[in-house]
Amino acid sequence: MNKDLLLYEKSRAGRRTLRLGALDVPAADTTGLPLRQSPPDLPQIGELELVRHYVRLSKKNVSIADSFYPLGSCTMKYNPLANEVAATIAGFSEAHPLLDAGRCQGALAVMKRVEEFLAAVTGLPCVTLHPAAGAQGELSALLVANAHFAARGEQARTKVLIPDSAHGTNPASAAVAGLEPVTVSSGKDGLVDVDDLQSKLGTDTAGFMVTNPNTLGLFEPRIAEICEKVHTAGALVYMDGANLNALMGIARPADFGVDMMHTNLHKTFSTPHGGGGPGAGPICVSEELGVYLPVPRVVESESGFHLETDAPESIGMLRGWSSNFGVILRAYAYMRRLGPDGVRRVAENAVINANYLRVRLRDAYHVPFDGLCMHEFVATTRHQRPGGVHAVDVAKRLIDLGHHPMTVYFPLVVNEAMMIEPTETETKETLDAFVEDMLLIADEARERPESLHDAPLSTPVGRLDEGRAVKEPVLRFRRG
Ligand SMILES: *Cc1c(COP(=O)(O)O)cnc(C)c1O
Repeated sequence: MNKDLLLYEKSRAGRRTLRLGALDVPAADTTGLPLRQSPPDLPQIGELELVRHYVRLSKKNVSIADSFYPLGSCTMKYNPLANEVAATIAGFSEAHPLLDAGRCQGALAVMKRVEEFLAAVTGLPCVTLHPAAGAQGELSALLVANAHFAARGEQARTKVLIPDSAHGTNPASAAVAGLEPVTVSSGKDGLVDVDDLQSKLGTDTAGFMVTNPNTLGLFEPRIAEICEKVHTAGALVYMDGANLNALMGIARPADFGVDMMHTNLHKTFSTPHGGGGPGAGPICVSEELGVYLPVPRVVESESGFHLETDAPESIGMLRGWSSNFGVILRAYAYMRRLGPDGVRRVAENAVINANYLRVRLRDAYHVPFDGLCMHEFVATTRHQRPGGVHAVDVAKRLIDLGHHPMTVYFPLVVNEAMMIEPTETETKETLDAFVEDMLLIADEARERPESLHDAPLSTPVGRLDEGRAVKEPVLRFRRG
């Protein structure tokens, strides 16, 4: 039997994984209910064939559990299994969001402690776990900024300045919040062009959204001065802290002048990222902005914890319920196991690993900003250009060699970008194996560059037309 048949093609009339016995309770009265008239056309299949089908499919997946995954900006670190165990504890996983506070004190305590931890890491005292992802965190914070300026009668502040190296969610969030994104250039050094920033700051500026370290993996050395300039103009500094892997335990964004930020628990704090699972993009803001945070807020008092929705100045709810609690629970387990020293060591090792790869690869590949990097760095295929080899070719060849590719073609300010983030969880042996394969690809690019255009050769399907896959997705279960 062809192992690659679709589930519908394996279907044979009458096969079942389960048959229910005869009804031994009175049948419910369904008159008047909007029930379908004919059974749905589902595949009919026995349990063993079904199990084999999905196990075979799962083996085609690539994940951090079977390969190195240096996907820059996405922080695919290993997520300890103990955190997954914590997330399945029945008292948490079966708690209904409508339980009254008295019956979910443990869950509320976990939320409060995670808020306190994030306040300690960022230096910003008011935290909410409400936003479902990084982008929603950005939006929430910009709505907080809008509320802040409205309360001060400064509605003319409608522009948000954003560096050209920023993640695409930044200008998108600004637009959704009803603000106008304005681009600030990067200098030749890959850092914010402070003069360009200064020239665009004015009485119409609501905020500056800065990513630090930026998407090139560079720390902004003038960040304190930048924040001061933004504050002098009466605007707020927002930091995109999706990736806190280089800073946590070492530098608190509030100390260099940040007023509000989000962080992605599904990158830095141990929830698997990617694959479309739930995330959490908590935001942390200064004392002054705390009153505008979304509801519900977790409140701790002498009588215990409760969820507070009565907050007259709050921007309200941005989603159902309080948070994606399973993600928060994993973050709690992660933080508690590491403790403050462990968190710092995570950051140190993430930075060391990235610099190790940068230095070992910089002869074979062009590294445009070749100073000390933070948790990631950007290389390019400039040296491979004579052979017509592009970043996508290197990425696809890596698949054949057993690694997940790095992020390519982002950030947009670098041509043929390959953004590499090893994370702290990899051994030196794994990093060395990756380097050997990257050097092998550089040799291939010199000696037989055409061969790279056909990669990957070891996968069930070869080079896909990714543009068409996005524009004309085939979402049917059946062929044809
Ligand atoms: C991932 C990421 C985001 C967006 O986070 P989501 O949870 O995917 O919405 C924003 N900024 C940066 C720098 C990121 O890496």
